[in-house]
Amino acid sequence: MALLTALQGGFGDTADALRIDGRALSREDLLGAATAVADRAAGAPALAVLARPTVETVVAVVGGLLAGVPVVPLPPDSGPKEREHILRDSGAALLAHAVGEDVPEGVPGLPVDPAERSATSHPEPAADSTGFVLYTSGTTGAPKGAVIRREAIAADLDALAAAWQWTAEDTLAHGLPLFHVHGLLLGVLGALRTGSRLVHTGRPTPAGYAAAGASLYFGVPTVWSRLAADPEAAGRLASARLLVSGSAPLPVPVFEKLAALTGHAPIERYGMTESLITVSTRADGERRPGSVGLPVDGVRTRLVGEDGAPVPYDGESVGELQVAGPTLFSGYLNRPDADAEAWTADGWFRTGDVAVIGADGFHRIVGRASVDLIKSGGYRIGAGEVEAALRDHPAVADAAVVGAPDEDLGQAIVAYVVPDGAVTGDQLTAFVAERLSVHKRPRRVVLVPELPRNALGKVLKKQLLAEHGGR
Ligand code: ATP
Ligand code: MG
Repeated sequence: MALLTALQGGFGDTADALRIDGRALSREDLLGAATAVADRAAGAPALAVLARPTVETVVAVVGGLLAGVPVVPLPPDSGPKEREHILRDSGAALLAHAVGEDVPEGVPGLPVDPAERSATSHPEPAADSTGFVLYTSGTTGAPKGAVIRREAIAADLDALAAAWQWTAEDTLAHGLPLFHVHGLLLGVLGALRTGSRLVHTGRPTPAGYAAAGASLYFGVPTVWSRLAADPEAAGRLASARLLVSGSAPLPVPVFEKLAALTGHAPIERYGMTESLITVSTRADGERRPGSVGLPVDGVRTRLVGEDGAPVPYDGESVGELQVAGPTLFSGYLNRPDADAEAWTADGWFRTGDVAVIGADGFHRIVGRASVDLIKSGGYRIGAGEVEAALRDHPAVADAAVVGAPDEDLGQAIVAYVVPDGAVTGDQLTAFVAERLSVHKRPRRVVLVPELPRNALGKVLKKQLLAEHGGR
């Protein structure tokens, strides 16, 4: 389906089709206000949007897409340096924002008034023109601007609707940021594509989720983990249809607790800014803890070893996950170095993630090649396996395992643990020694008050290592 057609379907057919920020808009309100933005943005090289979770953000993003102008969501809490970088890098000539909102200097503002209306008919832009420039989360380095074609967005939305049997009968609730693929592209545009209602809960709190009364819920693992710790709130999601987790690995204990409390085994989705939805459990498929399921319609994946040879799909062998298909981005903006690294000679995208695929095709994401695959004493160890062993201890609230530079081993396994109760590093070392073979045991277990995470709840392992120096 062409993107414009998909979006013009609009949210559900009620006066509060979109509820966000304590305010509600109907489908007609949204499309009328977005068209007024499109009238003013048409012809601009790119439209940046100060992407707070507000009605204005949704109106501005849809407006930019209606006008055929590349949309550049700007993380609202990013520092002035990151903002400046994104604005300059993307060539944004206008910055959409809510009326009365403080905006950074340097780019002309486009104040968005959700009460404005226009009925101009904007033509469908070319399918291969840019819909979004989306910046990656910056977990492994400086955020990169991924150029996303309109046809890739449309392919994503079609794959999503099919995988989760998402229809106009649904109401989606989430409390995720609106500058990232998860909350914005999959969440907001997914609801537009299917004609479902959308409730944005503001912050993603258990109470907010419990009160939303939706059929479909999106969350990142930290959201689900908080919900799993709040049985009363979690119980109120029993009337939902699907709980979907993405953006970071969902720990198996959280999967299990959530399934027990809500009666719904969660669906895990794996994707990235560069390929929004890549692999996911299907609504009608098996929901296996620790697995992200199968590639979505149209997407192909393969596993490649360090020597470039194919890795067998035996449920054990690890390799780099590579992706091809219509949902892929078309390259990084102004980053020929990153592009050269990201694409293979035969046109596949290197995700930089390490995965295992079973004979049945089910995918398990081990982690990032650069931080989660530890090379220690000639062994390759997935950080996630060590983290899972630590999380089995009742006094462990959270754990992150890294490879610290080590003269003897190349990398030494170091665990950073957030305790929940009285426990010592030595006790944890002894605990995991019973569960892990010698080469997988952490050399050091360091207790910390919390783990550094970004807005999506991803652990910033490079920062952790830099802060502690592996100690
Ligand atoms: P940067 O590319 O700037 O370092 P980032 O990779 O965190 O940041 P995103 O595009 O937001 O930026 O995140 C995609 C990554 O998130 C994937 O490559 C993968 O490592 C991780 N990820 C997403 N979903 C899952 C999942 N279900 N399980 C495990 N990891 C996941
Ligand atoms: Mg990345």
